[in-house]
Amino acid sequence: MLKVGITGGIGSGKSLVARMFEVLGIPVLHADDTAKYLMQHDTDLMASISRMFGNEVYQNGRLNRPFLASVVFSDKEKLAGLNSLVHPAVLRYGKEWAARQSSPYTLKEAAIFFESGSYKEMDKMIGVYAPYELRLQRAMQRDQASGDTIKQRMAQQMDEEEKMKRCDYIIRNDGSMSVINQVLDLHRQFCAMASGRL
Ligand code: ADP
Repeated sequence: MLKVGITGGIGSGKSLVARMFEVLGIPVLHADDTAKYLMQHDTDLMASISRMFGNEVYQNGRLNRPFLASVVFSDKEKLAGLNSLVHPAVLRYGKEWAARQSSPYTLKEAAIFFESGSYKEMDKMIGVYAPYELRLQRAMQRDQASGDTIKQRMAQQMDEEEKMKRCDYIIRNDGSMSVINQVLDLHRQFCAMASGRL
């Protein structure tokens, strides 16, 4: 089965675009949601997170999210440490999940693909592009967060231009083109690829 990855920086609109593919009947694995789920349900993963960040990271079996966020979003190395535990778990889960699908192709949505190396698991990569200021405004509004908070998160991510350069396709979500038309166009291409017509 054809596996397509979709990525973009915070506020680029990748979740929104992924939802459009879902409306077309394409199963989407949301890496962030999957990671959140596994951090609360995968006992092996939970044990390694406790070992790395201390027992206070779980309180009565519940992940202390604000504590973990405050640690990893202000320290690149700690974020990398957390990712080194969570990514393999998401990758394993994703493989089993993809094997259960019967659609022409599947989509995996994640902010981090090239940084983690998980792009290698994908046949094609889509980048969702929006300029910095627009991403900042969208993310501030969505998360009800300050500009500084979002900027700090953006600074942890790979340079947007570099990320887009490494993608096979770009969806422009900067108001210059219809996003739905771009999604439909790619959907047709992926269906054709999956059926051997391309
Ligand atoms: P990401 O997943 O890349 O961080 P989202 O898909 O959550 O980004 O989009 C960020 C916010 O901006 C969301 O609230 C979303 O609804 C909004 N948004 C994204 N694209 C558009 C658009 N083209 N027009 C209006 N709002 C948008």
